[in-house]
Amino acid sequence: MLRIPDLIKKKRDGGALSDEEIAAFIQAVTNKTIQDAQIGAMLMAIWLKDMAATETEALTREMMSSGEVMSWPEEWAGLVVDKHSTGGVGDKVSLVLAPALAACGCKVPMISGRGLAHTGGTLDKLESIPGFNIHQSTEQILQILDSVGCCIVGQTEMLVPADRVLYAVRDTTSTVDSLPLITASIISKKGAESLSALMLDVKFGRAALCKDLSSAKELAQSLLRAGNGLGIPTGAVLSCMDATIGRCVGNSLEVVESLETLKGNGPEDLMELVTTLGGALLTITGSVFDLSEGRKRISDAVTGGAALAKFQDMMEAQGVSAQAARSLCSPHTDYYSVLRRAEHQTELEAPGHGPVLDLDGLVLAEVLHKLGAGRSKAGEPVNHSVGAELLVSLGQVVKKGDPWLRIHYEDPSPTPDQINRLQNALILGSDENAEFEFKLPTDVTE
Ligand code: URA
Repeated sequence: MLRIPDLIKKKRDGGALSDEEIAAFIQAVTNKTIQDAQIGAMLMAIWLKDMAATETEALTREMMSSGEVMSWPEEWAGLVVDKHSTGGVGDKVSLVLAPALAACGCKVPMISGRGLAHTGGTLDKLESIPGFNIHQSTEQILQILDSVGCCIVGQTEMLVPADRVLYAVRDTTSTVDSLPLITASIISKKGAESLSALMLDVKFGRAALCKDLSSAKELAQSLLRAGNGLGIPTGAVLSCMDATIGRCVGNSLEVVESLETLKGNGPEDLMELVTTLGGALLTITGSVFDLSEGRKRISDAVTGGAALAKFQDMMEAQGVSAQAARSLCSPHTDYYSVLRRAEHQTELEAPGHGPVLDLDGLVLAEVLHKLGAGRSKAGEPVNHSVGAELLVSLGQVVKKGDPWLRIHYEDPSPTPDQINRLQNALILGSDENAEFEFKLPTDVTE
């Protein structure tokens, strides 16, 4: 009989836990036969002493098996796919990618999260659409996948219960930022979706969880090992998260930008991420010969309207009225006949002349968070209408006084200090005629 204090001591002293010992720890967490203090002590021991790759794989497997593991009809073999992003500013990739993949014949049970701190959450974005219900049972998910091909939902009660317990204790014991714990938390939930292929979008940069490329590579490698270790063919992209993805940040505004993208008017950087991640998934599942064919399939699904039709069907299947879904997906719609528009808009003017060299996405996200677009603690409400639209692109030459940012706000209004921070977030070059090369954010595909 394994004793929890002995397991904690072994890890505390730098030992490697065996598969059996990790299973005993996770079973005790799931069955609630362990004290919170013991969970906290084990998590801190893992944080301090790290885990070998084999331990992380065992932890991931045991966490995945702590609850329901979804199963799909046999005829879907090889077709069930998903992606995970480590979070960014203006990251609306899921809203475009899930229906695009469904339009290419995949089944996409996308289980997403809410925003926390400065990063936005896919579920919050979708909940800005009146009626959109992110709470779907496993049976409902199966039905929606059968009829539409994609759904975007919250984690069900039965899925990876050990993660729920561990995450709450990590939050209160300063053990969130541990590579094996992050890896097991993310991949166990993807494993419980019984995927045929998984793509990871690991972000690096000032507005990302990983501030530099090397820490993002380390996280990507750990996630790849754990995903492949569970038998899910897994790939990863490293993408830069210094500014924003697309031009809109904030829940309703990001829905508008996603719908515009699904109507063929998407920004280049968003389309680059969508086609890269989607193209890679189609390549992994063997639906296409190579990445360039995969990218083209995804791009055609978006620009040809098939992905938009899937998004409309998904909205209806998840509770949006047929009239609202049709209106949002029509060509020249007034989005704000369905979505809520913030009571106030104000435009900031460029403080000088020159090419736009950079925009600090972290500052933009932090200010919007303070204006109510995000939450500081799980469970807090957000104001879906708060956000901002970038009116300039990187590389564009602006003149002093040109509007460059439209802020959508209600109560509170932006303070002079916040306006000042935003103005300093726009970095202009000194020479209007300077040669300026703008690089798209996707960096590496593995
Ligand atoms: N997302 C998760 O689900 N878990 C983590 O630990 C970090 C990000």
